[in-house]
Amino acid sequence: MYHHDYLYKSILIPEIRRYTYVMALKKILTYPEPVLRKKAKRITIFDDALKQLAADMGETMYNAPGVGLAANQIGVLKQIVVVDISKDEKEKEFIALVNPVISEGEGCVAGEEGCLSVREYEAKVERFQKIHVAAQDLDGEPISFDAEDRFARIIQHEVDHLQGTLFIDHLSTLKKNLYKRKLKKILKAGE
Ligand code: ZN
Repeated sequence: MYHHDYLYKSILIPEIRRYTYVMALKKILTYPEPVLRKKAKRITIFDDALKQLAADMGETMYNAPGVGLAANQIGVLKQIVVVDISKDEKEKEFIALVNPVISEGEGCVAGEEGCLSVREYEAKVERFQKIHVAAQDLDGEPISFDAEDRFARIIQHEVDHLQGTLFIDHLSTLKKNLYKRKLKKILKAGE
C-alpha cells in the first residue's frame, strides 16, 4: 500500500479527463532499437500536443498491457513518462511526469522487473525502496512527492529510459549476455 492517496488527486491529469482526446496507439519499440539508447530532451513547451502525447502514451501503455511507459519507447525523445496509479481494474488512472528527476533515494530492494521494450525477459533488479521525485505536470507546474515500493520501482525504471538505460543494464554481465543470446534466438525465429 502507498500512503500518498492525497497526492494522486493533486497530480492526476485533469486535462485528459476534461477533454476528449482521440487517442492513438503507438508502436512500442523494442531492444536493440537505437532510440532506446538515446537521452531524451527536456520539455519546455507545455501545449496541447504534449497533452495529446501523454494521452497516447497512456493508451499505448494500457493496451500493451503495462504499468509504465517512457516516451523513448514510442520513438519520442522527450522527457515524459506515464505511470499507472489505478486502484482497481475497472477505473484506469495514470499520471504523466514531465522532466522527472529522482532527487533522493533510500533503502535497497530487489524485485522482479519486465519491460515492454525488452521481449520475453524478466529479472530481479535492485532499486531504491523510497525516492523523492521532482517533476512538472502537463501544464508545466512543478510537482514533487515521495514514492515507495512498487510505485517507486516503476518511476525509477521509467526515468532510466529517459537516460537511455534499460533494466537489463542493471544486471550482471553474465545475465545480460544470457539475455542477448536468448534475444538472438527470438529474432531468428521471427525472420
Ligand atoms: Zn521499460
